[in-house]
Amino acid sequence: VHPHPSTLHAFKEAVRRVPDRTALAYFDGRLSYAETDALSDGIAAYLCDRGFRHGDRAAIMLQNTPHFVLALFGVWKAGGVVVPVNPMYKSGEMTHVLSDAEVTAVICADRTWDGFLRETAAAAPSVRIALTACERDLQTRDDARVLRGERLGPREGADDLLATARAHEGRDPAGVPELTADDIALISYTSGTSGTPKGATNTHGNISYNAERQRTGLGLPDGATYFALAPLFHITGMVCELASCITGGGTLALAYRFEAGVVLDAFLEHRPAFTVGPSTAYMALMAHPDATRDHFSSFATICSGGAPLPPALVEKFRAEFGPYIRNGYGLTECTAPCASVPPQLEAPVDKVSGTLAVGVPGPDTIVRIIDDQGRDVPFGEQGEIAVRGPQVVPGYWRRPDATAEAIPDGELRTGDIGFMDADGWLYVVDRKKDMINASGFKVWPREVEDVLYSHPAVREAAVVGVPDDYRGESVKAYVSLRSGEAPDPAELAAYCKERLAAYKYPREVEVLPELPKTTSGKILRRELRNRG
Ligand code: ATP
Repeated sequence: VHPHPSTLHAFKEAVRRVPDRTALAYFDGRLSYAETDALSDGIAAYLCDRGFRHGDRAAIMLQNTPHFVLALFGVWKAGGVVVPVNPMYKSGEMTHVLSDAEVTAVICADRTWDGFLRETAAAAPSVRIALTACERDLQTRDDARVLRGERLGPREGADDLLATARAHEGRDPAGVPELTADDIALISYTSGTSGTPKGATNTHGNISYNAERQRTGLGLPDGATYFALAPLFHITGMVCELASCITGGGTLALAYRFEAGVVLDAFLEHRPAFTVGPSTAYMALMAHPDATRDHFSSFATICSGGAPLPPALVEKFRAEFGPYIRNGYGLTECTAPCASVPPQLEAPVDKVSGTLAVGVPGPDTIVRIIDDQGRDVPFGEQGEIAVRGPQVVPGYWRRPDATAEAIPDGELRTGDIGFMDADGWLYVVDRKKDMINASGFKVWPREVEDVLYSHPAVREAAVVGVPDDYRGESVKAYVSLRSGEAPDPAELAAYCKERLAAYKYPREVEVLPELPKTTSGKILRRELRNRG
C-alpha cells in the first residue's frame, strides 16, 4: 500500500484523472469530481477570506449529504481540522465540543442553527464563522433544489453553504500550506471507556492509510459505487465509505440518514458494489417488509463494523438475501478498522464461545492480547486487545494524561477483551467495562446475545447486569422481535438456559418494541442498564 499523504491529495488526483465522473450521488442529484472540486474550493476561499487559518477547527454537524463532503474538503483545502459532530447532539454536548476543540467555524443545517446552535455558538468565544445548509431542501430529496441550494431566507448570523460555495466557485484559496500526513485531519469525540468525550486526533496519514488499505484489501475496483450506510460523522463512514471511495475515484451514494425503506430504494437506484454499516442496520434492512434479494444483487462486498456481529445474523442474512456480511473491527482511536476479513475467506466461529472472528490484523498492524500489566497473555487466552499500527492516532486533543493512559508508547489499549486463535484470527469477547459479575462468575453479554440472536423470533438483543441482592448482579436480556413473532419471554430464557452454563442464562427477559441505539447504530447497553 502506498497511501497519499492525505485523502485530499487522492481526491485531487481523481479530479485530474476523471473530472466528469460522478463523485457524489444524492437521490437523483449528481455532482461530478470537477464540480465537487470547484464548490469545495469556494468554501475554502470563503473561510480563508473570513480569517480561518491553517490548523483552525471547523465543526461539521450534518447528515449524509453532498454538503457534508463539500464542507469537509473545503475545510481541508483551507488547511483546517474538521470536528465531525453528530447532528442529533443537544446544546450541552455541543458546548463541550465547541469549547474543548476551540472551534472557529460551525457548519450545520439551518434548523440546527436556529434551534440551538446560534445561542451555543454565541456563548463560545472562539466561534466566528457559521455556514448553514437548508435542511428542508435536503429532505425534499429533489436534486434540483438541493444542489441549487435554494434558501428559505437568510439566517441570522450565518451564511448559506451552497450559495457561498457558488459565489466563490473554483477560486483557489491562496497561500495555504500543503497538507502533510502528520497534520491533524479530524478531532473525533468519543467517550471510549470513561466519562466526558475526548477528541481523538486522526491524522491525514491515519485516514489515508486505512482508506487505501481497505480498498485494496477488499479488492474494490477503481470507480466503484459505494453506498454510505454508516453516518459520515462517524469514523467508519468517514474512512471506509467516504475516504476509501474517493481514493479509488468512485461514486459515493448518500441518502441523508438511515431509514430502511429509503436505503432499499437507494440500492435499486444506485446499484452499489460496496457498503459498510453497523450490524443493526442489516437487522433493520432484513426486517423491512419490502426487502428482496434483488435489493442486494449489485453488491460485490458488504461489511459490518463498529459493533458486534452475531454469527446467526450472518447466516440468516445470507439465506434470505444472498450476500455474506464481512466482519471488521475498529475504534475511533484506530481510525476505523484494524482487523478485517480478507475477501477470499470467511470468518470462523469459535467452537467454545460461539463468537464470530472479527478478522485478521492488517499487514502493518500488530495486535497483542495483554494482561493488566501490559504483558502478553499465553496464546489463546483472553486479555485486553492492544493495537499498534499506522492507523492508531497519536493521541487525544490536549489530553496528555488520557493519551498516556490509553496509548502508552503509541500502542492503543482498546478496552476490549479478546483472544487470538492458532490461525491468527482475532475475536472480540466484549468490552471490559460491560462484564457482568454474577455470584463471582464472569458473564460476557455478547455470548448470551449471540444465543438470543440464533432464536428465529429475535430481531435485536442486548444483555446487561442488573443489581441482585443474592448474586450481586444478575443477567437480564432485552429483546425486540421480528414482526409477527410473539414468543413468551420465559420461553426465550429457557432457550438460553438449554444452551448456556447455569450462571450465564438471563434470569429475566424483557421485550421492547425496539432497543435504544446511538445514531451510529450501536445498541446502548448503558441506557438499558439504567432502566434496571
Ligand atoms: P462512544 O464514543 O459513544 O463511547 P464507542 O466507545 O462505541 O463510542 P467507537 O470507537 O465508535 O467508540 O467504537 C469502538 C468499539 O466498538 C470497540 O472498542 C468495540 O467494543 C466495538 N466494536 C467495533 N467493531 C466491533 C466488532 N466487529 N465486533 C465487536 N465489537 C466491535
